[in-house]
Amino acid sequence: MSTKKIETAINSHNCCFICRRKRSDRIKLRTINKNSIIHAFKMKRIIIDENARCCRNHLDNNGCIKEELYGQIQSINKNVSYV
Ligand SMILES: [Zn+2]
Repeated sequence: MSTKKIETAINSHNCCFICRRKRSDRIKLRTINKNSIIHAFKMKRIIIDENARCCRNHLDNNGCIKEELYGQIQSINKNVSYV
């Protein structure tokens, strides 16, 4: 068995994974298009949970993260064990 570090986006229903803004009455957070999850992994090797949320203004009309924001995804390193 060995361990490997992977980067994952912060995953919270109450906090944006790009700018870390907290959900409030004024700020609605949305889930993102699955294509963005795949894109983030291909481009940045960052895993975004499909339940992760971000502000509406980070997304285009299709619910995909705007291209220039992929570099701003807030991520944490997780140690994952695998056999
Ligand atoms: Zn945000």
